[in-house]
Amino acid sequence: NLSDRLTASFKQLRGKGRLSEADIDATVAEIRRALLDADVALPVVRTFAANVRERAKSAEVSQALRPAQQVIKIVNAELVEILGGEARDLRFAKHPPTVIMLAGLQGAGKTTLAAKLGRWLREQGHTPLLVASDLQRPNAVTQLQVVGEQAGVPVWAPEPGNGVGDPVAVARSGVQHARDKQYSVVIVDTAGRLGVDAEMMQQAADIRDATSPDEILFVLDAMIGQDAVTTANAFAEGVGFTGVVLTKLDGDARGGAALSVRGVTGKPVMFASTGEKLTDFERFHADRMASRILDMGDILTLIEQAERAFDAEEAEAMAAKLAGDGDFTLQDFLGQLNQLKKMGSMKKMLGMLPGMGQMREQLENFDEREVDRVEAIVHSMTPAERTNPKILNGSRRQRIAKGSGTTVAEINSLVERFDQAKTMMRQMARGGGKGMPGMGMM
Ligand code: GDP
Ligand code: MG
Repeated sequence: NLSDRLTASFKQLRGKGRLSEADIDATVAEIRRALLDADVALPVVRTFAANVRERAKSAEVSQALRPAQQVIKIVNAELVEILGGEARDLRFAKHPPTVIMLAGLQGAGKTTLAAKLGRWLREQGHTPLLVASDLQRPNAVTQLQVVGEQAGVPVWAPEPGNGVGDPVAVARSGVQHARDKQYSVVIVDTAGRLGVDAEMMQQAADIRDATSPDEILFVLDAMIGQDAVTTANAFAEGVGFTGVVLTKLDGDARGGAALSVRGVTGKPVMFASTGEKLTDFERFHADRMASRILDMGDILTLIEQAERAFDAEEAEAMAAKLAGDGDFTLQDFLGQLNQLKKMGSMKKMLGMLPGMGQMREQLENFDEREVDRVEAIVHSMTPAERTNPKILNGSRRQRIAKGSGTTVAEINSLVERFDQAKTMMRQMARGGGKGMPGMGMM
């Protein structure tokens, strides 16, 4: 699937010191193939690939990120961009009722969505009314009545007098009823067909003209793959729509539909439907969809944290210090531990850090409270002691233990670990390796 393919393309960059032009080209080519195989529309793929290449080539050399991470970050940002960034709010009419019309193929999830949206709006203090303008299938009205009841939202169904057999008349009378009874929102469910069909389009267009909707939501089954673009274009032309709802995102959707539809139609994806239950519904978040496609939510969070926590200047000063004659003090030691702490849970960093294989176990045993204890101990030391721990004799150690609420044994172990760290850091600095800050600490 798309996630696996993208992940594989990033793996090729592992272990590279910096991004070369050839690396970027190879990775972009791989991303391009992955998107095409996931049924993303060609024009969208082209834009995407071009933008990623551009961003990667002009990317600043980041001190905090490795090349693979840098590319992941760029791809993610580009995915969010193509998916349309932040979802906009529904447009409500100045003079209620607000009319929301649903359009889409049969089975897309319109009727289910009507109830979900109704429930969601009701929770926000609106008083929605569902209108059953799908008279195509024998059970369509009953189905809306059932889900409407589950959602606690009333349903306007065809009765003698309000347009039996005529979906346009039902829609019109439904909106009128809402106006009379002061419902604030009307959600019009319409009939779909199994494929794009001129009669269906005409009917939808007639309902649109009869109700002047404030929003026309095109409901799209995210699993239909390549047909998504054709269908979206047909509806854009035949009825027009103001926003998109992606349904069945709980399925094994390859993400292609989501990427294509926004890119091709320019209309925002506004809601996501993620299951059959009425609560399986949320506003669409481009960033969540992007990390779903990338399947790297945790890694992205870590990349952000690493960037934030990594103080490049501090790290350089440290490297210089270590490369010189190792004037590494307990104060520095504390500073580095604090940088680690800033990065959040150490355990999550496993696998993200380059060359962390052997350190895995140590990381797993890392106790963040340890940083607090070290901090207390170092704070109880005089500046002279921090700079030169060699002067720490028995009585000084006792004084520090008292002052920091620890024991002499803990002080001893800290001094010992500090010496080890110092040796290790010096070796790393000589080797030219620039690990994450504080990596030698544990
Ligand atoms: P309509 O023909 O467009 O009105 O589609 P329906 O609302 O009748 O939905 C068709 C089928 O898809 C029903 O069995 C729904 O329960 C199911 N369905 C709708 N939305 C979702 C969704 O987000 N996830 C899943 N898994 N099923 C859905
Ligand atoms: Mg239906």
